[in-house]
Amino acid sequence: MNKPVENQIVKNIPLWINGKPATASSTRLGEITNPATGAVTGRVPYCNQADVDGAVKAAQAAFPGWRDTPPLRRARILMRYRELIEAHRDELAALITAEHGKTLADAGGSVQRGLEVVEFAMGIPHLIKGEHSEDVGAGVDCHSLRQPLGVCAGITPFNFPAMVPLWMYPVAIACGNTFVLKPSEKVPSTAMRLAELFKEAGLPDGVFNVVHGDKQAVDAILNHPDIKAISFVGSTPIARYIYESCAKTGKRVQALGGAKNHAVVLPDMNSAADLDFVADSLIGAGYGSAGERCMAISAVVAVGDIGDALVAKVKEKASVLKIGPGDAKVGGKEMDMGPLVTQAHRDKVAGYVDKGVAEGATLALDGRTFKAEKGFFLGASLFDHVKPGMSIYKDEIFGPVLSVVRVKTLDEAIALINANPYANGTAVFTRSGGAARKFEREIEVGMVGINVPIPVPIAFFSFGGWRSSLFGDTHVHGMEGVRFYTRAKVVSTRWPDANAVPTGLVMPTL
Ligand code: NAD
Repeated sequence: MNKPVENQIVKNIPLWINGKPATASSTRLGEITNPATGAVTGRVPYCNQADVDGAVKAAQAAFPGWRDTPPLRRARILMRYRELIEAHRDELAALITAEHGKTLADAGGSVQRGLEVVEFAMGIPHLIKGEHSEDVGAGVDCHSLRQPLGVCAGITPFNFPAMVPLWMYPVAIACGNTFVLKPSEKVPSTAMRLAELFKEAGLPDGVFNVVHGDKQAVDAILNHPDIKAISFVGSTPIARYIYESCAKTGKRVQALGGAKNHAVVLPDMNSAADLDFVADSLIGAGYGSAGERCMAISAVVAVGDIGDALVAKVKEKASVLKIGPGDAKVGGKEMDMGPLVTQAHRDKVAGYVDKGVAEGATLALDGRTFKAEKGFFLGASLFDHVKPGMSIYKDEIFGPVLSVVRVKTLDEAIALINANPYANGTAVFTRSGGAARKFEREIEVGMVGINVPIPVPIAFFSFGGWRSSLFGDTHVHGMEGVRFYTRAKVVSTRWPDANAVPTGLVMPTL
């Protein structure tokens, strides 16, 4: 409440229900801040049970009509939606930057990656096709079909205000479901604009709805009897809670959690050109979006004798990163890194740098020395000689802090990563096909990069980690997304025929 308002218009964010903005019955409100200035720029309602009920009622009413809309017609609406998102890409990026803080280029890139899921979902007439076999028995044919579930819900984190919701609802809606989205209360504006654009694309009212809020709204979603499936992306403790709650109420669930992603650098990357390439990759993956990415690299595993040269190179490049407001330019060029999302998160990340020093790691670069007049800024930090027992290694920091762990062999690197509770993404840097193949086969992580630092799968593959990075059986988007948002039915058919053989009382066999 004591944050500066700075002559900005403080907007009130409504809900989006039945194709139009709606007022919440809840009187609880949260503040939205611009991380680059610290100014309060808006207020968002924290929905209660009645608000969630209203959204689910609209989605439930829209379901029969939408389910019965031919997939090709659904796809045509998605095609128009795709065009609209592309046309409004810069506007969406500006909304993201104003509430999250990341640079405009980074925000625009994340809109593009979300748009690609819409492009995947446009193929729904083909993706949803079943199988058919004739003569599975005398005069009997068999076919399978996939049908939508009903009302589905999505609960999303602050770090990708467009991309993560777009991982979910285009696929769910293409499959014939209706949807209630609860975006992060820290960054609610982008989801509202995406809802408006979907209506403009021709989506019938009630098919896509947006509610806002915190645990109260989430619990209302978890306990709602008319919600059939829940997709969640956020931190591991909440992902586990969502998964366990859905298991109790019998809802289908995919709950993606936190991460601690490792990049292994093998000693054969020691030429000047390779070191340059690896360091650039690590800088982008470690400090891009101020480290607030679930696929950010936070631990570098230096194998053999590459450590000294690698740390020197990363330090050299990290020291000159341009840090400032995500929409600012210096000499015609954008910043490399914006602020962190809130003051509290900035202070938590800075606290980890304090802890790393206290625990005995070598602080090669101290991001705490970066000073800004306002906003939630922190510079890039680099730790060397980090040990697996230290909190900077064990915890997900979710900020611009890179930790280098030194090991002797590739086997040691693989064992270290496989022992970590998180298993979202990982990468190996090497010129050896044999070493890369061994890594790919033996590493127990959901998404793997070989000389690719952030191996986020393209939309027609599926995204998801292992162990504490994902609770549930299916990953998001791609064919796993289609399977998650539909259920299979198998139909065996026989038509009356003079030659039909009666089955009698025994188990029918061929
Ligand atoms: P968060 O877990 O705090 O919040 C995620 C969602 O859960 C939000 O919508 C929030 O309102 C809701 N929520 C928060 N506390 C809750 C509670 N007690 N009960 C019920 N719901 C609650 O996560 P965040 O800080 O918004 O996002 C950062 C986290 O998300 C990081 O851990 C990051 O790794 C993770 N993340 C994971 C992926 C992935 O694909 N695995 C992608 C993006 C982000």
